[in-house]
Amino acid sequence: MSTKQFDVVVIGGGPGGYIAAIRAAQLGMNVACIDEWKNDKGGPALGGTCTNVGCIPSKALLQSSEHY
Ligand SMILES: Cc1cc2nc3c(=O)[nH]c(=O)nc-3n(C[C@H](O)[C@H](O)[C@H](O)COP(=O)(O)OP(=O)(O)OC[C@H]3O[C@@H](n4cnc5c(N)ncnc54)[C@H](O)[C@@H]3O)c2cc1C
Repeated sequence: MSTKQFDVVVIGGGPGGYIAAIRAAQLGMNVACIDEWKNDKGGPALGGTCTNVGCIPSKALLQSSEHY
């Protein structure tokens, strides 16, 4: 098994986690962002509650309902 070293490992790829990971990378660190969320097909899904079930899907549903 190969191993890789990181300066920072962020657990959680929601708005809190990915912003922290992006900022650490902007500051020159080697960063990993880990999330356990899975999409419908069992694949990885970053973005947390906001992207996967919260802010964005709920606003899309409201918009679609209004058009309907
Ligand atoms: C229906 C709904 C609508 C919303 N609408 C809005 C809106 O319009 N505007 C707004 O500002 N906010 C909205 N929110 C709130 C917004 O979604 C949250 O404030 C935001 O997602 C919080 O981000 P977070 O990174 O703290 O947590 P989360 O987005 O919950 O991310 C946490 C991540 O950590 C991962 N995780 C947790 N434990 C582990 C572990 N042990 N190992 C690996 N991964 C782990 C989870 O899988 C998850 O992806 C809404 C929420 C909901 C439910």
